[in-house]
Amino acid sequence: MTPTSVRQNLQRIQERIAGAAARAGRKAAEITLIAVSKTHPASAIREAYEAGIRHFGENRVQEWEGKRAETDGLAATWHLIGHLQSNKAARAARLFHSIDSIDDFAIAQRLDRAKAEAGITGKLRVLIEVRVAPEATKSGAEINELLGLAEKTAGLPQLELAGLMCIPPFLEQAEQVRLYFRRLRELREDVVKKLGMALPVLSMGMSHDFEVAIEEGATEVRVGTAIFGTREAK
Ligand SMILES: *Cc1c(COP(=O)(O)O)cnc(C)c1O
Repeated sequence: MTPTSVRQNLQRIQERIAGAAARAGRKAAEITLIAVSKTHPASAIREAYEAGIRHFGENRVQEWEGKRAETDGLAATWHLIGHLQSNKAARAARLFHSIDSIDDFAIAQRLDRAKAEAGITGKLRVLIEVRVAPEATKSGAEINELLGLAEKTAGLPQLELAGLMCIPPFLEQAEQVRLYFRRLRELREDVVKKLGMALPVLSMGMSHDFEVAIEEGATEVRVGTAIFGTREAK
């Protein structure tokens, strides 16, 4: 990707975000675009930053540790969007502003402790990843465990539970995933009602289906390929 094409891609995506928001009677300003920079070099992150992006998503602690030195000084918010292994929780709590993929209480507790030990002020934002399609996907907390996990996580002093995240199955037609996005929104409403807490964030939608996600209430979309181009197969 050349800097020009990253900039052009971002412009097109912003237009599509605005269009989807308008269709749903929402404001584009309610939706945060997270540029998913996994597998792409620090130079790509800089290009997106220069084009105005302030949120980035990485899915591996180690990869981000390697790129971080080259992106120092960029005033952006860094999200961990991939599965977090418990032995990396302490590093993750120091390296990211938000962990968007909490899926069990043990991980939440480890992050809480790590945050306290790191002595960094302010809470660590977390989202609970929900397994909205048990038949098709592996990651995320089970739907029937969500309420208990949300209640316990919200009780941890160093964490701020801000909302829910999901990765639906990949289906050829983006329209086919709408029901999973709707399911996440309904689950959020249920938790809010039963626990009386605010959960403003719904992180859902990727390159292939972010417009449908926005129509269903996404407040954060995680877009990689449509910004940076295709990733090389590992
Ligand atoms: C890679 C990834 C994305 C971005 O996917 P694209 O299809 O490249 O937009 C979003 N969310 C998560 C959790 C990812 O791992």
